[in-house]
Amino acid sequence: MQTLILRGEPAREEAMAKLRAKLSAAPRAPGLAVVVVGEDPASAVYVRNKTKACEALGYRHQTHRFPAETSEAELLACVAGLNADPGVDGILVQLPLPPGLQAERILGALDPLKDVDGFHPENLGLLVSGHPRCVPCTPRGVLRLLQHYDVPLAGRRVAVVGRSVIVGRTLALLLSLKGKGGDATVVMCHSATPDLAAETSRADIVVAAMGRARALDRRHVRRGAVVVDVGINRLPGPAGGASLLAGDVDTAAMQDWAAACTPVPGGVGLMTVAMLMQNTWEAMCRREGLV
Ligand code: NAP
Repeated sequence: MQTLILRGEPAREEAMAKLRAKLSAAPRAPGLAVVVVGEDPASAVYVRNKTKACEALGYRHQTHRFPAETSEAELLACVAGLNADPGVDGILVQLPLPPGLQAERILGALDPLKDVDGFHPENLGLLVSGHPRCVPCTPRGVLRLLQHYDVPLAGRRVAVVGRSVIVGRTLALLLSLKGKGGDATVVMCHSATPDLAAETSRADIVVAAMGRARALDRRHVRRGAVVVDVGINRLPGPAGGASLLAGDVDTAAMQDWAAACTPVPGGVGLMTVAMLMQNTWEAMCRREGLV
């Protein structure tokens, strides 16, 4: 069996082209503000990618940088200013925050209509109730990638490994919603799942979002299943060279075994930023009464 590689680039380009077409007829450019606290190296890469995407689409963008020892009160004041700024349609607080800062308190202070990450309790509540408004970018990117490659979801058995709000739990919720893009039968696995392989090997589609390099192999995936690897793990490079990126799946083991598999890098990660751009566009449309 030849394994189809579900590359993120064509799916991202399709999403960005659709967005460009809408932007060309828009009354103004959307505005995105990113709040970064501390010096997390991975966050620095993600923030650079977000800035590049804003520039590529002509979005107005601003980045607010704070040292790791910033107080909660200072961050809340920044968020309040961005909530009140009419030129800002979307606000993103880059996670993880340094120890001592509670992400839930900062995210809870965002104007839910500007919460383009979709982590505000109001947006999560809308998702749970089956009326999603702003959907978290990575789960949305996974669905968009599968849609691009015509991978059917309705009636399929999907195992999601990981239950974080950022990825696993929200993706499992989306997949289980009634109607287009959902209607899957979903099992959500986590570190307390007694026999992970028994759960995942029954699935038609396995999504790995656990943050454990190459943890899933052929024992976890039935022959002919579709594999989506959300994990991004940094491993030491050979002989002290540059570090390597690895997913949560042993990709080499999936060759000629899975029907299809996303690569790392070059898979889901590319979709996340595109979906942030989409969410920011939609936030602007809501604020302008265009939807
Ligand atoms: P997280 O908050 O650390 O959550 C990891 C989840 O995996 C937890 O629910 C954990 O279970 C579960 N888990 C860990 N070890 C397990 C095991 N041995 N068996 C079963 N479940 C296990 O991580 P996250 O934020 O969801 O991110 C997951 C991965 O996706 C990371 O590699 C991250 O870098 C990557 N990521 C990628 C993108 C992208 O754009 N591609 C975006 C976000 C995240 P418990 O809940 O029981 O602890």
